Amino acid sequence: SSATAPIQATLFPGDGIGPEIAESVKQVFRAAEVPIEWEEHYVGDQMDPRTQSFLTWESLESVRRNRVGLKGPMATPIGKGHRSLNLTLRKELNLYANVRPCNSLPGYKTRYDDVNLITIRENTEGEYSGLEHQVVRGVVESLKIITRQASLRVAEYAFHYAKTHGRERVSAIHKANIMQKTDGLFLKCCREVAEKYPDITYEEVVIDNCCMMLVKNPALFDVLVMPNLYGDIISDLCAGLVGGLGLTPSCNIGEGGIALAEAVHGSAPDIAGKNMANPTALLLSAVAMLRHLELHDKAERIQNAILNTIAEGKYRTADLGGKSTTTDFTKAICDHL
Ligand code: NAD
Repeated sequence: SSATAPIQATLFPGDGIGPEIAESVKQVFRAAEVPIEWEEHYVGDQMDPRTQSFLTWESLESVRRNRVGLKGPMATPIGKGHRSLNLTLRKELNLYANVRPCNSLPGYKTRYDDVNLITIRENTEGEYSGLEHQVVRGVVESLKIITRQASLRVAEYAFHYAKTHGRERVSAIHKANIMQKTDGLFLKCCREVAEKYPDITYEEVVIDNCCMMLVKNPALFDVLVMPNLYGDIISDLCAGLVGGLGLTPSCNIGEGGIALAEAVHGSAPDIAGKNMANPTALLLSAVAMLRHLELHDKAERIQNAILNTIAEGKYRTADLGGKSTTTDFTKAICDHL
C-alpha cells in the first residue's frame, strides 16, 4: 500500500549454486515484502572488450547507477586474455573495503556461542598490488604498497561503521614492529582517524597475538580493521569460529557509497544444480545490504527468520548436518516470516 517507488538493486546470481541461492533470496524478499526491484545480470560467455572480462559493461553500469547490489559466487573461466571477474568488479567499482560481520548462530553449536565481531579489510593494495618480479635467478621480489590515501579511507570507514552500528571499539591489526614503514603508516592513519572519534575506544594489536586471542576468546574483539593480506586471513579465521563459509556474509564498499554484498563461499560445482546448497550466507549478505539501505526492520525480520529456522533444527541443509533441500529450507524461512 506504500506509494514510495521500489529501490533498484543489481543482482548477479553468478555461477554454480549461485542461481539456486539467488532464487532463495528473491523468494524470501518477496515473502518479507521488501521494496526492492532486482536488476539481474548474468556473467557472459564471452569477453566484453570494454571490461576485458566476461562481465559486461552494462552490468557494471547497473551497480554504478543503483549503488547497491548482491552478488552470488562467480567461477572465473580458465583461459588467457581476460581479467578475473572478482578482480574486475573490485577494480572497476573501486571496492576498497571488505566488511564481514561474524556472529554465532544460536542453535548451531560451534566452539563459541558469543562471537559478535566485524572484520574490515583494506581491499585494494598491500601485498595484493600484483607487483612481483624476479630480481636475478633464484631471487624474487614482491612489493607491498601502503598509501596514506587508502589507509585513511578504510580507517574512516571502520570508525564510521563503529559509530553508526553502536560499536564501542576499533582494533587496528598490524605487524608494525617488523613492517615499520608500511604497517607503521597504516597505524599512523588509523590513529589520526581515531582522534576524530573520541567515543570509540581505539587499540592496536599485533597480528600474531590477535590470532591467539581470537581462537582463545573471540569476545575480546569488536571491530577489527587491517591491511589486505591480514584481512584475508583473519576474516576466514573468524568465519571458521562461527561455523564456516556456508554461513558467512560479506559486503564490499566502494567509492561513492557503493555497496556490493556477497557470500564468502565459491560456486560449489560439486553440488550445483542438485538443490542442496545452503543459501544462508547469501541471505545474510542480502540482510547486510538491507542494513546498508537502512531498511532495518526488514533486515531484522529476515535475519530472525533465518536464525529461527536454523535454531529450530527441523529444516537444515546437508552442510549443517540436515536433510533439507534448498527449496524446503527457503520455504521454512518464508513460513517463519
Ligand atoms: P567453494 O566455496 O565453491 O566450495 C568449497 C566446498 O564448500 C565445496 O565442497 C562446496 O560444496 C561447499 N560449499 C560452498 N558453499 C556452499 C553452500 N552455500 N552450501 C553448501 N555447501 C557449500 O570453493 P572452491 O571449490 O574452491 O571454488 C569453486 C569455484 O568458485 C572456483 O571457480 C572459484 O574460483 C570460485 N570462487 C568464487 C568466489 C567468489 O565469487 N567470491 C569465492 C571463492 C571461490
